[in-house]
Amino acid sequence: MLIEKYELEVFTPPCEPGAERFSAIAHLPNDIRDVFPYLNAALRGAIYEPAVPSVSWRKAGHYVVFHPDRIAVSNVEDRDAAIKELEGIIALVNRIWEQRDQIEPSYKTRRRPTGVEIYKLLPRTNCKACGEASCFAFANKLAAGQVQLEACKPLLEDPQYALQREELAALLDVDLPAIGPKR
Ligand code: SF4
Repeated sequence: MLIEKYELEVFTPPCEPGAERFSAIAHLPNDIRDVFPYLNAALRGAIYEPAVPSVSWRKAGHYVVFHPDRIAVSNVEDRDAAIKELEGIIALVNRIWEQRDQIEPSYKTRRRPTGVEIYKLLPRTNCKACGEASCFAFANKLAAGQVQLEACKPLLEDPQYALQREELAALLDVDLPAIGPKR
C-alpha cells in the first residue's frame, strides 16, 4: 500500500473567512511522487505538472491537489464531508498504485481551459438558473473547479445547445448525462 498513514488537517481557508467551505490536507510520511504519472493517466481531467511536481484534479466540484508529501482537497461543505472526501481520495490513490502494472503512465501536461473559453460555449443568456449572476461568473467558477457543468440546466436540457454541450464536455474532459429534462 502506498499510503498507509497520514495526519489529517481540516480548516476553513484564510482567504475565505466565513465562507463556510472547508479544506482538508492529508500530511504524508512518505513521498508519493512515483504515483503521479499513473494518476495522470487514470484520473480524467487531471493536470500533471512534473516541474513542481504536482497533479491537480477536479472531482465533483472539489479541487484536489496531490503533492509529494501531502494531498489537499478544497471546496467541501462541512468538516465531516472534507474528511470523508479525503479518505476516499487516499483509497483511490492506493487502488491506482496497486493496479499500476495495468496502467500506461502518462507524463503529458494537459492545459486547463480558461473562463473565457468556457464562457464562449455557454448559452450566454444570463438566466441565473445555475445560481450565479451571469454566465461569465459561472464560467470563471467552473474554470476554478468551484461549480460543476451540470448546474447549467439550459445547457443540459435544451436541445438547441447540444453542440455546445458536447464541445464543453470535451474541453473539460467530463461525461454528461443524455440531453433532456430530468424526470
Ligand atoms: S444557468 Fe447556464 S445559461 Fe443560465 S446563467 Fe448559468 S451558466 Fe448562464
